[in-house]
Amino acid sequence: MAHVLVTGGAGFIGSHLCERLLELQHQVTCLDAFDPYYPADAKLANTATARRHRGYRLVRGDILDVDLVDRVLAGEGPLEPDGAKSEAEWPDPTSPERPVDTIVHLAALAGVRASAEQPDAYMRVNVEGTAGLLDRARQAGVSHFVFASSSSVYGDNEDAPFTEDAELRPASVYGASKQAGEIVCRAFYDLYGLPVTALRFFTVYGPRQRPDMAIHKFGRLMLEGKPIPVYGDGSSARDYTYVGDIVEGIARSIARPGPYQVYNLGSTRPVRLANLIQTLGVALGTTPRLEHLPDQPGDVPVTWADISRAERDLDYRPTVDIEEGIGRFVRWLRETPHASQGGGGL
Ligand code: NAD
Repeated sequence: MAHVLVTGGAGFIGSHLCERLLELQHQVTCLDAFDPYYPADAKLANTATARRHRGYRLVRGDILDVDLVDRVLAGEGPLEPDGAKSEAEWPDPTSPERPVDTIVHLAALAGVRASAEQPDAYMRVNVEGTAGLLDRARQAGVSHFVFASSSSVYGDNEDAPFTEDAELRPASVYGASKQAGEIVCRAFYDLYGLPVTALRFFTVYGPRQRPDMAIHKFGRLMLEGKPIPVYGDGSSARDYTYVGDIVEGIARSIARPGPYQVYNLGSTRPVRLANLIQTLGVALGTTPRLEHLPDQPGDVPVTWADISRAERDLDYRPTVDIEEGIGRFVRWLRETPHASQGGGGL
């Protein structure tokens, strides 16, 4: 059992990961700034199941706040959600405060299109924030740093499926910030021997998906009977990967520290945008109305993962296909009132 710090743990992927790590008997600290990109209510709701678990604590704070990060890494506690010391007992009055062993660094600004409007903020959080966290991690003696990278690092590379050694040609500020994050991770491994695993996630979907992402945005518009904005001719394809499969890949990588490795986590079955919309329409029982718009800068024609390395080293096997995954997403969308709120994204 490890003490795992999940940055961005109140977000879409992070909240599922925290629940899975608690199931695996790890002690989990979630550090999340509740960034206003989409509503804080949704993020607090994401953490509801984990908050019932005594091995979990939620610290509301910024990865750029190095003093807070030091206290979190030292296992200092209990800390209130705003980072203040509290009188409450955590996590178990009989266990001593315990330093963090492993960091899963998911906190980031994550919108591809929004990154063009706020390049400085994306670089500050995604690159500076990662560098600062790596530095505090090595000083605190953390034994493994898992970094959430993205298929966006492949960008304009059309030589799909992508292996991890393919040329990186990010086509957005977001993709560039993730490539820069990987480079900083590599430097900390080379300089200090900090074991790092960088995981390149391919378009993740499922319950709690960020409201700016296509499946969530389209599903909400369909429920409201509104037209769906389709950029390009619908032929672009994404390797949509179910969040449960991604979480399993992360959990497996935690169990296999470094020394330095990069893995694609995808489903290996790219779906064209037009087919995705059709599948979503069937699951929602509606006929989608489309509004065709020009391609957006930063959009790429295809993402498609070669996952041979993750299969070999992590025994990573994606199991949820798009019909099943969309079905689970639609059930969540119908049942969740806050899911119908728009986000701060595009
Ligand atoms: P998300 O926005 O739901 O989660 C990110 C969380 O980070 C949010 O809860 C946010 O409040 C928090 N955060 C932002 N800035 C912070 C800061 N300065 N300090 C502390 N917390 C901060 O996004 P997600 O989709 O769950 O993505 C999680 C990670 O996975 C991100 O690093 C993202 O770039 C990466 N990723 C996601 C996808 C995807 O398809 N969702 C694909 C590739 C990579």
